[in-house]
Amino acid sequence: MKKTNPHFETDAIRTQIERTTFLEHSSPIYMTSSFVFEDAEDMRASFAEEKDRNIYSRYSNPNGTELIDKVCKMEGAEAGFAFASGMAAVFSTFAALLESGDHILSARNIFGSTHSLFTQFFPKWKITHTYFRIDELENVEALITPKTKVIYAESPTNPGVDLVDLERLGAIAKKHGLIFIVDNCFASPYLQQPIKFGAHLVIHSGTKLMDGQGRVLAGITVGRADLIDKIYRFARIAGPSLSPFNAWLLSKSLETLAVRVDRHCRNALEVAQFLEGHTNVQWVKYPFLPSHPQHKLARKQMKAGGCVLAFEVKGGVQAGRKFFDAIKLLSLSANLGDSRSIITHPASTTHSKLSEKERMESGITDGMVRISVGLEHIEDIIGDISQALDAIC
Ligand SMILES: *Cc1c(COP(=O)(O)O)cnc(C)c1O
Repeated sequence: MKKTNPHFETDAIRTQIERTTFLEHSSPIYMTSSFVFEDAEDMRASFAEEKDRNIYSRYSNPNGTELIDKVCKMEGAEAGFAFASGMAAVFSTFAALLESGDHILSARNIFGSTHSLFTQFFPKWKITHTYFRIDELENVEALITPKTKVIYAESPTNPGVDLVDLERLGAIAKKHGLIFIVDNCFASPYLQQPIKFGAHLVIHSGTKLMDGQGRVLAGITVGRADLIDKIYRFARIAGPSLSPFNAWLLSKSLETLAVRVDRHCRNALEVAQFLEGHTNVQWVKYPFLPSHPQHKLARKQMKAGGCVLAFEVKGGVQAGRKFFDAIKLLSLSANLGDSRSIITHPASTTHSKLSEKERMESGITDGMVRISVGLEHIEDIIGDISQALDAIC
């Protein structure tokens, strides 16, 4: 019989660490900080890395290993490392790979804290960056300097849900021998696998769709084995590792990623369609709405549109505030990818650290509303948004 690789959903459920002598069906939690050696020789050989085994949970732990194996299969990656948060993954990835003097070429539209790392902290180590506009990728090559080491992007972007042509950036990175890193957290591995488009490393905040229930902070970087080895060498010393409990929880969450994300996308598309027809709405952006300026690209690189959409209520900031105050069911919160629908005002919250000019460049208007559409019944989600829109005039 021809051997075929298991499908995404099967890997998500069946990737599991070896059973113990109890033959448990579901993986247990290994709440242990260290592991024992059989004898002096075992101890020596383990530390000499002659054996592939657990020594200390800052380096590795069975729950972390299960999670990493699973995400590697989902992303088509060779290796990975799991972190205590998405930002620990972002920081450690750069810290491990870059030297003082190196240069990052990054999309302008990136997660707020990643932007703060680039602007407030990396200059301390003489790591510089240049931002490129994601709608002008033809200009990216001209921004490459002899010091450039990394091309960095997120797609879809936060909070504007714009798309970045990953295949195009992958080709530029390849041509110039640069490391192409993609933060794939908005799409999740179920909707988009950047390695297919030339990414060398993929970063996730496990806090978002991967957990999907607003319980854990977690991060993971997966990709090319030689790069992951450098990240591992740094992280096992620096100590940003994910706890066994959170690794266990996240691995469990991934068992249902496909069914959850399917429903998130279906609900988000319905909300987007509802908003598009509403008289109090200026514009709405969702990758799988045909009106999205990059709809064709969305269909090429994503399986569905994701859980996040952005829109603007008519009437500016005042109307926006009224809308937020009229919301009853949706949570006013900063997270996304949760089973609970969440509504955010990026200009006054997640992106308030950006200057007005930076916000405009990233397409974050004062009245922009971001919704992470959850898994409640669609009629209840739309009902709440509908009554709040009616309340503004
Ligand atoms: C939330 C998020 C992060 C950071 O993840 P944390 O788990 O909150 O540290 C990074 N990138 C993107 C795109 C995010 O949405």
